[in-house]
Amino acid sequence: MEQHKCVIIGSGPAGYTAAIYAARANMNPVLYTGLEVGGQLTTTTEVENFPGYPDGIMGPQMMEDFKKQAERFNTEVRFGMVTKVDLSKEKGGWHTLTIDDEKQIQAKTVIIATGASAKYLGLESERRLMGHGVSACAVCDGFFYRGKEVVLVGGGDAACEEAIYLSKLCPKVTMLVRGDKMRASKIMQDRVFNTENIHVLFNTETVEILGEQAVEGVKVFSKTENTEYVIPAHGFFVAIGHKPNTDIFKGQIDMDETGYIRTIPCTSKTNLPGVFAVGDVQDKVYRQAVTAAGSGCMGALDAERYLAEVEGH
Ligand code: NDP
Repeated sequence: MEQHKCVIIGSGPAGYTAAIYAARANMNPVLYTGLEVGGQLTTTTEVENFPGYPDGIMGPQMMEDFKKQAERFNTEVRFGMVTKVDLSKEKGGWHTLTIDDEKQIQAKTVIIATGASAKYLGLESERRLMGHGVSACAVCDGFFYRGKEVVLVGGGDAACEEAIYLSKLCPKVTMLVRGDKMRASKIMQDRVFNTENIHVLFNTETVEILGEQAVEGVKVFSKTENTEYVIPAHGFFVAIGHKPNTDIFKGQIDMDETGYIRTIPCTSKTNLPGVFAVGDVQDKVYRQAVTAAGSGCMGALDAERYLAEVEGH
């Protein structure tokens, strides 16, 4: 069976950064891209907040650059899905990974960088206008809507945080909460209610996002009034939660109740020896490309130290 010092699962900023560091440390990493090569950033348009790109860069282009940099230092990037894992509990043991339900390989260290996926409402208009006014990340895309009215859906902590962020850029933020209360913590709710230009509509559901080429408004249904109406807006932000991509690790690795992999604070170490988790798969708070990249670097450094320890060099 093929054996490697280091296998990285995932091709977002965390995975590629781990690869750059692991490759430069002579670990000859193999990186499996997953189906969405480049990760969540490939679904965004312009990235303006990644340091080092003063003029901004398109998300897909940035991920191409990450890939090129990883390959330049001898990372083997393979298009494929890790569909099953058998992770060793022994220090220095081999972890076995199944690729595309067919082939098996083994690795001394595994860096999990499978990310998380934003949840969407599932409307046709939402899919069609993605990147043209529809976004699942206010911190990434809010700036494009400065001076414009926007609508945001969700009632959790993330939705509150995004609404507050948007309220500093936009004259009016309408927040749609489907039930009669928010799930967010009291302190976040208070902040929202104390922000003058955030208007919270309870018992309100999204029916459709209006516009052909760009968002022009949102058709909503008020359950209290039993009526549909349109809210004019240029941006529609979805903040109804994320799902970490951890299904294949369930039952083998320590996770929190929502499926995020638990890491030892200030490290990328999981409860299993030689298995490290980096980026959004273990971070439900920051979720930025730059924090994911930083965490990928930590993963490679932790893996390198682990290898040195178990291989005695
Ligand atoms: P949550 O799961 O906490 O909240 C999701 C919200 O979206 C709920 O209000 C839910 O409504 C709503 N929702 C879900 N599906 C739909 C739908 N189809 N249509 C309309 N609304 C929908 O997710 P978050 O991303 O907000 O937070 C995830 C975790 O991260 C939480 O533990 C949170 O505390 C934490 N977090 C903490 C932050 C902080 O402390 N600053 C910042 C960000 C996240 P309903 O309640 O009706 O189900």
